[in-house]
Amino acid sequence: MKNQEKNKSRREFIQKSIAGLAGAALAPSLLRAQEKPAPEKNKILYRTLGRTGIRVPVISMGAQATDIALYGAALDAGLNHFDTANTYNNGQHETMIGQVIKDRPRDSYIITSKVYQAMDQRTGRYRQGVTAEGFIQDVEAGLKRLGIEYVDILELHDVVCKEAVTFEPALKALEKLKQDGKTRFVGLSVHTNEPEVINAAVDSKFHDVILTAYNFRQPHFREVKQAIARAAQAGLGIVAMKTQAGVYWDRERQKQINMKAALKWVLLDENVHTTIPGFTTFDQMNEDISVMVDLRLTEEEKRDIELGMKGGMQGLYCSQCRRCIDQCRHHIDIPSLMRSYMYAYGYRNLPQAKETARPVLEAGISCADCSRCSVRCSIGFDVREKILDIARLERMPDEFLV
Ligand code: SF4
Ligand code: SF4
Repeated sequence: MKNQEKNKSRREFIQKSIAGLAGAALAPSLLRAQEKPAPEKNKILYRTLGRTGIRVPVISMGAQATDIALYGAALDAGLNHFDTANTYNNGQHETMIGQVIKDRPRDSYIITSKVYQAMDQRTGRYRQGVTAEGFIQDVEAGLKRLGIEYVDILELHDVVCKEAVTFEPALKALEKLKQDGKTRFVGLSVHTNEPEVINAAVDSKFHDVILTAYNFRQPHFREVKQAIARAAQAGLGIVAMKTQAGVYWDRERQKQINMKAALKWVLLDENVHTTIPGFTTFDQMNEDISVMVDLRLTEEEKRDIELGMKGGMQGLYCSQCRRCIDQCRHHIDIPSLMRSYMYAYGYRNLPQAKETARPVLEAGISCADCSRCSVRCSIGFDVREKILDIARLERMPDEFLV
């Protein structure tokens, strides 16, 4: 059998296996270049990232795309801010960004990276034994993968509570890295408990930039908006993520969220300096860029946003309210697993889905042994069903995205 045919058979086999495991209509996304022209640079809208003074395009690029050509095209189009982390795809995302920026002038791109250290699932605090040296070593390894001397912004990844915002070893590490010229600015990222974390970051007077979840589907978006306004007023740079609220309303990807409306809704808040809408294709990138021409919502977009705010439609976005953790007999970190579910089915990013779920799955989940799930999710998710689905996805090959 020729190699090409062998590969085809393997793909077909894996596709069938995956469909059997996950019970959904799944399609492989091959890591190949897409032949679509990049849009014109003059459409790009820029804002200043708070006191950093850095001019950023209002659309930045995160870790969702797996096509390296898309990163190069984004950069060529003027989307010159990349967001990565030492944990994304086990560091491979940093390696890929390194390939994209190699041979380009250092002032032609802006890099944000993030560093994660172990946290207690239940309390959200850093675990005992986490040290400043641990953060520093991880950042230095990340710089090697990126192939650069410094990042522009370095963030503590996935901060959950105010205690973690001012965790001394983390601040010591960031301070040292700044002094040593390995980062220009520091900050944190937050997916849950956003108002508390953002307000603590402002009060700390330490952080320069906040990367926060922010979208029209958050039941507490008004509180997030208020915290963002306070942070921006205090001079912090604000980057919004999860702006597309899970991308789809359904797991089978038949009903897409109104992506332009979702992005405009966030960008209409001028306290937000840039966003990471998570585009994964040239079409999506061009659609996001087209938003910059006129941020006003059309009547149809307004209706879609209002409908989405009303509730009644579950979607794939977990609001990360964390109310489920103490309801679960085994105190599983359900919000992280729900985030993983969204990465898998909403963004089709299996590596990121696995990476998000891995620490929770490694700690052990007991859903299969529970005769009845005691969790009543605040937005009605059947968490047991989703957790078991994610545990199955963990066994899928990385090169195939659901
Ligand atoms: S209760 Fe539901 S919405 Fe809240 S964190 Fe848990 S799974 Fe997510
Ligand atoms: S089924 Fe899973 S999520 Fe529900 S109570 Fe049991 S262990 Fe917790």
